[in-house]
Amino acid sequence: MPWVTFLGITRPLRVWKYVVRSGDTVIDATCGNGNDTLAMLRMVADDSASGCVYGFDIQQQALRNTSLLLDDSVTPEEKQMVKLYAICHSRMEDVVPVDKLARLVAFNLGYLPGGEKSIITRPETTILALKAAQRKLAIGGLISAIVYVGHPGGREEYAAIEDFASQLHADEWKCCKFQTLNRPAAPIVIFIFRK
Ligand code: SAM
Repeated sequence: MPWVTFLGITRPLRVWKYVVRSGDTVIDATCGNGNDTLAMLRMVADDSASGCVYGFDIQQQALRNTSLLLDDSVTPEEKQMVKLYAICHSRMEDVVPVDKLARLVAFNLGYLPGGEKSIITRPETTILALKAAQRKLAIGGLISAIVYVGHPGGREEYAAIEDFASQLHADEWKCCKFQTLNRPAAPIVIFIFRK
């Protein structure tokens, strides 16, 4: 099996499943059309409803799309486990309770597919959000970022994230990236594991 299929280049589900269990708290930092939110909910949903997905997007349209996808895909009880916020992901600590640590914080950067292409994630707020994600991450948890380099500003955002992850202390964090060498415009996946 090629590694891109194994990992899932647009949604690294197998890596997520390696760290996430039902009942966990997880954070979707960029809800978009809700596909990642739904995949994360399916991993954490449990009978006692202790699992929780916090979802963020700066666009109301994205949160509407996410909500509609959940309506079509899960039970009302499962949907209750998802909390959506129309705020910048750098403010995740404003709404996720202090005592809730996440097993996974997922970023799927760039613009809303099918939406306005000029509304994109930006390096300054993405780095602030990654720092917030570090503080909200449980030991053994994972920050994953799908970084698109094919749109204006994408390469700069990738460079900022690579620089950020490269400087994290190796005693506490394990940082790696997966890049398609013979498709230079393909998205790059960055994993930041908290040891
Ligand atoms: N995860 C989504 C899915 O499964 O469909 C795709 C996400 S899309 C590639 C990127 C999203 O990031 C867009 O919907 C965009 O509005 C959102 N975004 C841009 N800047 C943001 C910010 N500062 N905070 C939160 N979301 C942001």
